[in-house]
Amino acid sequence: MARTVQDYIRTIPDFPKPGIMFRDVTTLFADPRGFRMAIDQLLHPYAGLEIDKVVGLEARGFILGGAVAHQLSTGFVPVRKKGKLPGKTVEQGYQLEYGHAVMELHDDAIDAGERILVVDDLLATGGTAEAGIKLIERLGGVCIGCAFVIDLPDLGGRSRLEALGQQVHALCA
Ligand code: 5GP
Repeated sequence: MARTVQDYIRTIPDFPKPGIMFRDVTTLFADPRGFRMAIDQLLHPYAGLEIDKVVGLEARGFILGGAVAHQLSTGFVPVRKKGKLPGKTVEQGYQLEYGHAVMELHDDAIDAGERILVVDDLLATGGTAEAGIKLIERLGGVCIGCAFVIDLPDLGGRSRLEALGQQVHALCA
């Protein structure tokens, strides 16, 4: 039977700490058929739509988002953890399971009114994606969708983003 995107993803127990089942997408990225299938399926709902830029969330969102941007012939913009971007930035804090983190976006990376697609590998609580959306909106961008390879619905990310009025697209759970 033909393999699905899910078939290329492995789960590694107790990473990065005991009790966590980490979904490892490096095996998906490493396979030529799997990677192409993931990119094709990620961008499928957006083909033909007006999109100016793809925003990728650090770090696996860069790999996926770069390929999606290339296919859609858009620009690519990284949202990075604090301290990594060299130019002037806007920043947005968000809650982690234990603690707090800050994401940044170059303050000239998006023009007001630009239509943005957000891409990342996995949606869990939705905190990372929400921070990215807030940064985009701070610069006047319009987030037209959020695309993920994996959605872990029990962690509430999809409903959190939908409550913000966002459209969520995911390839597997
Ligand atoms: P959230 O902010 O939605 O709780 O967590 C999503 C972020 O954490 C994403 O940027 C994602 O890359 C990362 N993440 C959390 N858990 C996993 C996991 O099990 N596998 C992978 N590949 N990424 C994860």
